[in-house]
Amino acid sequence: AQRSPGQPEYLQAVTEVMESLWPFIEKHPKYAENGLLERLIEPERTVIFRVSWIDDKGQVQVNRGYRIQHSMAIGPYKGGLRFHPSVNLSVLKFLAFEQTFKNALTTLPMGGGKGGADFDPKGKSNAEVMRFCQAFVTELYRHVGPDTDVPAGDIGVGGREVGFMAGMYKKLANSAASVFTGKGLSFGGSLIRPEATGYGTVYFAQEMLKTRGKSFEGLTVSVSGSGNVAQYAVEKAMALGAKVVSVSDSSGTVYDAEGFDTAKLELLMDIKNRRYGRVSDYAAEVAGVEFRAGQTPWHIPVDVALPCATQNELDLDDAQALIANGVLCVAEGANMPSTIDAAKAFEAAGVLYAPGKASNAGGVATSGLEMSQNSVRMSWPAEEVDNRLLQIMQSIHAACIKYGQREDGTVSYIDGANIAGFVKVADAMIAQGVV
Ligand code: NDP
Repeated sequence: AQRSPGQPEYLQAVTEVMESLWPFIEKHPKYAENGLLERLIEPERTVIFRVSWIDDKGQVQVNRGYRIQHSMAIGPYKGGLRFHPSVNLSVLKFLAFEQTFKNALTTLPMGGGKGGADFDPKGKSNAEVMRFCQAFVTELYRHVGPDTDVPAGDIGVGGREVGFMAGMYKKLANSAASVFTGKGLSFGGSLIRPEATGYGTVYFAQEMLKTRGKSFEGLTVSVSGSGNVAQYAVEKAMALGAKVVSVSDSSGTVYDAEGFDTAKLELLMDIKNRRYGRVSDYAAEVAGVEFRAGQTPWHIPVDVALPCATQNELDLDDAQALIANGVLCVAEGANMPSTIDAAKAFEAAGVLYAPGKASNAGGVATSGLEMSQNSVRMSWPAEEVDNRLLQIMQSIHAACIKYGQREDGTVSYIDGANIAGFVKVADAMIAQGVV
């Protein structure tokens, strides 16, 4: 805490992981030797830089850019870029730390990193977004590379932004090496990458439900957020027979008692992805849905909740409401959406609860598959990528069961994900000495 003053999200993520690892480390003391834990909580490199660009009015704008290169122990740094006004050092350090364990869980050879800027894409023109992305990459490009650091998208960074950044990288580096994932299909992207995080979260929840002899068929599901992860979580949950009754953004929640159908989801995607609109715009265009300004979806009674917006969007009060309403399963599409108290409440109540580092790992896993395809200069069909995604989510679920089994036979997915990810990273660090 002394070394990370004013970084509450980072301390929250480290506390959550260390609390769940501690009993395991006491049984396996080699993992506390040679300063391994101290090294693991100190990012290998942190780059902070100025991003200056000119807006449509000719005014100079200045933002702060970051890249946190947390761990290269098992492969090149890998993790998304976030453009959002809430971005700061604490948020990105927490995300890079979590990413390191998540990437280890996928079993693919990827280290952990994260980056971004306090740039707010809302209300910016296409030309402004392009100029910002280009300015951002004029510094970022010297720190990344296909065997060094491979960024991707996250909040505020989708296909459009990745395209602008990949284009500028090529120009500066005079290299067509693939240093971004989440690219468009026309320049090296992978089929199923846009869908992967949302689909993967639902695949993971499906595995959890199976342990109680259930499936998504006929269940009621709430989703928060309305961006990339949320949209494809809605699509896959619907495809598996669930009724999805909500989406949200930072201004409020749309409640749809009838549930989404394909036409409604297409409209939502059009509004969010092509018109860059809000969920309130969506509510205004669809009959029979209700917009609840300023509210989250967590007080709606559901069987399964999928938080897919942002960190700390679900607190203890929300968790208690979900539990009182009989929720069966909570699988996180976002990173650390539940506060520590909320996560503990779910586990104490016997709810099937998956932390994001396990349930949302399908996105980065598919980024890993994009890297493989780029390396061999091939592109795999959608079914192949989707099958691999499903298998990876099933294997992450199995790893959580293996490492998260309690003496009474129940499973803590928190412990399972933390220990399984940690063991892989820690073994690699031990083998490579004190560096
Ligand atoms: P998008 O930018 O596509 O969507 C983000 C959504 O979350 C928007 O609906 C946004 O609403 C909402 N949101 C953001 N901040 C807040 C806030 N403070 N309060 C309420 N709602 C908010 O991002 P993604 O869908 O890519 O990312 C969502 C989450 O999933 C993030 O936690 C991300 O780290 C995580 N994730 C993403 C992966 C990916 O592959 N994209 C992979 C793994 C995890 P608004 O427009 O109002 O801000």
